[in-house]
Amino acid sequence: CGICGATGLRHATPIVFEGLRRLEYRGYDSAGIATLSNGQIERRRAAGKLDNLATLLEHEPLGGTTGIGHTRWATHGAPTTGNAHPHGTARVAIVHNGIIENFETLRRELEAAGQVFETETDSETIALLVDYHLQHGLPPKEAALATLQRLEGAYAIAMVFAGHEGLMIGACHNAPLAIGYGEEEMFLGSDSLALAPLTRRITYMENGDCAILTPTGAEFIRFDGTPVHRIQQVTTLTA
Ligand code: GLU
Repeated sequence: CGICGATGLRHATPIVFEGLRRLEYRGYDSAGIATLSNGQIERRRAAGKLDNLATLLEHEPLGGTTGIGHTRWATHGAPTTGNAHPHGTARVAIVHNGIIENFETLRRELEAAGQVFETETDSETIALLVDYHLQHGLPPKEAALATLQRLEGAYAIAMVFAGHEGLMIGACHNAPLAIGYGEEEMFLGSDSLALAPLTRRITYMENGDCAILTPTGAEFIRFDGTPVHRIQQVTTLTA
């Protein structure tokens, strides 16, 4: 339902959590955040209100300067902590808004290839398909594109990769995703309102766009890898 991500020099968790707070108005049943901490993926998830996630984070803080977060409105799989986003493996973590229409086909293919699912969600197929390509030697960008080329439905996605500090990949198809520009930091959000306190410089991604983000900027490509130029706008939204 809601996505927020940050990569830069500051701790990502408070930035991402604040972004999720600003997306609360859209409604949700659970929430979670994943960061890269010393190159490794760590995540915290909680069913129910963001306050539950906040309490968990107080007891088990999440370090790192690259992070993605999600507020979930369940479509496939019960609204439990186990089905809350981010989903992933030791190699990749993803958050997803929307529905993957062909997830059953993908899930069967991935299970046949030995991938083990832990949730009932359509979203986990995204994570395990990216993971499959990473296992087979593709770098993150290529693994993301190979995955996006297979996904049917409406989706906005954000991904982070173990061992790739600073890298965050966003993609969207029939669901909104906005990129925000900071000073030596970059953000993404499913709603520019999530980014309002962080920056006024925004790019609204178009259908079939993939954004490769590092703290110094964004590169936009289509799902087939073709580079594309997207304009930066200055929003009048106020924090
Ligand atoms: N279909 C996904 C799920 O049920 C994402 C739902 C959402 O947009 O929050 O986990």
